[in-house]
Amino acid sequence: MKRLVILGGGESGVGAALLGKDKKYEVFLSDSGKIDKKYKDVLIHNGIEWEDGTHTESKILGADLVVKSPGIPDQVSIVKKLRNAAISVVSEIEFAATFTSGNIIGITGSNGKTTTTMMVYHILRQAGLDVAMGGNIGESFAKQVINDTSNYVLELSSFQLDGIQSFRPHIAVITNITPDHLDRYDHKFENYIDSKFRIVMNQTSKDYLLYDSDDEVITSYIKNHPIQSQLVPFSLSKVVANGTYLEQNNIIIEFNNRDIIMPTSNLALEGKHNVKNAMAAATVAHLLKIRKATIRESLEGFQGAEHRLEQVLTINKVKYVNDSKATNVNATYYALESMNVPTVWIVGGVDKGNDYTSLFPFVNEKVKAIICLGKDNEALFDAFGNMVDIIIETQYMSEAVKIAYNVAIAGEAVLLSPACASFDLFESYEDRGQQFKSAVRKL
Ligand code: ADP
Repeated sequence: MKRLVILGGGESGVGAALLGKDKKYEVFLSDSGKIDKKYKDVLIHNGIEWEDGTHTESKILGADLVVKSPGIPDQVSIVKKLRNAAISVVSEIEFAATFTSGNIIGITGSNGKTTTTMMVYHILRQAGLDVAMGGNIGESFAKQVINDTSNYVLELSSFQLDGIQSFRPHIAVITNITPDHLDRYDHKFENYIDSKFRIVMNQTSKDYLLYDSDDEVITSYIKNHPIQSQLVPFSLSKVVANGTYLEQNNIIIEFNNRDIIMPTSNLALEGKHNVKNAMAAATVAHLLKIRKATIRESLEGFQGAEHRLEQVLTINKVKYVNDSKATNVNATYYALESMNVPTVWIVGGVDKGNDYTSLFPFVNEKVKAIICLGKDNEALFDAFGNMVDIIIETQYMSEAVKIAYNVAIAGEAVLLSPACASFDLFESYEDRGQQFKSAVRKL
């Protein structure tokens, strides 16, 4: 019996443990932190040996294979020891992929992964395909492979891609690449870009890479590296050969034929970034030979994910929008871009070394007041202090929402789009978004 050791007892680790057990490995799971009760119960119920609060080396270093959670950096001591002992350390994505011959669609990027993944899944389901969705969203890929299916739509983070060796998606999507998570990449943007492009490293000329060809980081990487995959660009700004583009606000997909998919005004989701996400999703579906009418109807009905430019309520003709998932500047860029009325903007949290310059034009043009919601708001005051008449700080969501309510008048909007991580004042971006919504509902 081969010994499978899993480091990390979250969604991906527990999924890998279940799959390993199903495939007759001797499984041991170890987490140096605390494992959630929900996952402990699953491990106990399935008779899987585990520990938390420590890594017992004697139990780990005897592994034939190690699956490491994407949250654990390579620099931690136990991972270094495994590498020194020449024991293979892979991600749950790599491990799971070896047990399925299903068609894999892998979606990565700095922003838009979840939205695009959900859109693709929605279209494929509407088309009646057998399909599962997983990876960095919902249930782990490994868990889903236990009841294997024909198609997988996977949201993939750079950390998950760092742990692949032979993983080969038939269709890869890179939505965009902007600096993020650089603390895990030696503060070098190149390393993070390389990590995203691992998604194509095992692709052949039978596979596809869909990418935003308006993104210069992506196009310059493609120009300078040999890529075997068939390249399928999508663009908001220009006509592209063998790809997807806009013509008079219609989404056009052009390979051998030219197909008019739909007018962008019929998309259920607002914002230019969502036009891009829809173009990517429509192109995936087109490559899988799904009918135009199905693609169109699916995108017309797609309601979007919670905390992503989510319309909460309209009170006294003021629209409240929850974009708590905007944890970096690029995401907030698209949120502000999509606002078409004067906006009271709630921003702030853990600033990962943000450069706010790209937001200046929108702030000058559309932002009426700024409410800083973070423990340390100095960077925000420095960047925007001279740009708006009203800039206020608070450390309570309920207060931020009350101030916004007092400042906004009919026809305006209140937008929570923090451009920062949430961990200074909240448990997670979900917690931040929920607190925003409940404060709005109490108004
Ligand atoms: P991810 O899973 O990559 O974090 P999400 O779909 O959850 O992406 O969106 C994260 C944030 O980025 C949200 O605030 C959303 O409005 C914004 N966003 C979505 N798609 C894009 C895109 N294509 N480009 C830039 N920002 C985007």
